[in-house]
Amino acid sequence: MNHNVMERLHALLTELSLVQADALLEGALERAAKEEPAYPDFLLELLSMEKEFRTSRILQTRTRMANLPYLKTLAQFDFSFQPSVDERQVRDLQTLRFVSDYGNVILLGPPGVGKTHLAVGLAIEAMRGGFGAYFATANDLINDLGKAAREGRLEHRMRLYTRPKVLVIDEVGYLPLDPVGATVFFQLVSARYERGSIILTSNKSYTDWGTVFGDQTIAAAILDRLLHHATTVNIRGESYRLKDRKKAGLFSTAPPAQAEDALKRNVTFESPGKEAAHAARA
Ligand code: ADP
Ligand code: MG
Repeated sequence: MNHNVMERLHALLTELSLVQADALLEGALERAAKEEPAYPDFLLELLSMEKEFRTSRILQTRTRMANLPYLKTLAQFDFSFQPSVDERQVRDLQTLRFVSDYGNVILLGPPGVGKTHLAVGLAIEAMRGGFGAYFATANDLINDLGKAAREGRLEHRMRLYTRPKVLVIDEVGYLPLDPVGATVFFQLVSARYERGSIILTSNKSYTDWGTVFGDQTIAAAILDRLLHHATTVNIRGESYRLKDRKKAGLFSTAPPAQAEDALKRNVTFESPGKEAAHAARA
């Protein structure tokens, strides 16, 4: 192969930012010399490799920016372990129609049943589908927005949470909110209403939201907007975190006194795994 031509080719690919085509050129040419594909096929192969690389790089960047607590996909979710999760419903959400329709997804259930996993999995699907996503715990989000409100830059800070097409708000209800927290949360939900999707997880059923937000009226206003276009996934099962420990016999009898205490303070769902799940958190 003409050395001069190769040099010029590499220079051009670099100038055009076709990084992957540049890196894989020699290999692709060697294969082509053996297999003798038609010219369009060769070009198609080279450009497809470039495209694939770019897609995965964009996804990597998006994923880095999304602030996910861990990388777990829907493919890694074991539906057989959690029969209360309707696999068809999740597969339907996976089509991302809810994102195009600015719909919300609410995942409810006790600790350890896979709420965050499903929320993260759906956020990853959304990013694969070309949408931006951002993950925050309710606590972090409210602290952040509350601080911004005190410093007079709420509107600016709010953009971090309104810009992405998909916003995950994890663990609503673990901690009760003060009036400022409840107000900024309401403002956020209103700002995203019919403009972007929220995937929300909570250990509290809707009837307990008045207590969470410290005010029935504001809780009703939040729920009204959240639930207008929403899919609720109610998970009533065992904690996945505990399944191995259970196997080892650690939780075969009553939960430790400390966990019982926590249970009394934080009564949530009826589920066979409840005590064990709380014990795991305690
Ligand atoms: P929570 O409901 O408290 O948000 P998570 O979604 O964080 O619970 O789940 C706890 C851990 O168990 C995570 O590591 C998650 O990946 C795993 N997990 C939960 N449910 C399943 C499941 N059905 N299949 C596979 N892993 C699961
Ligand atoms: Mg969680």
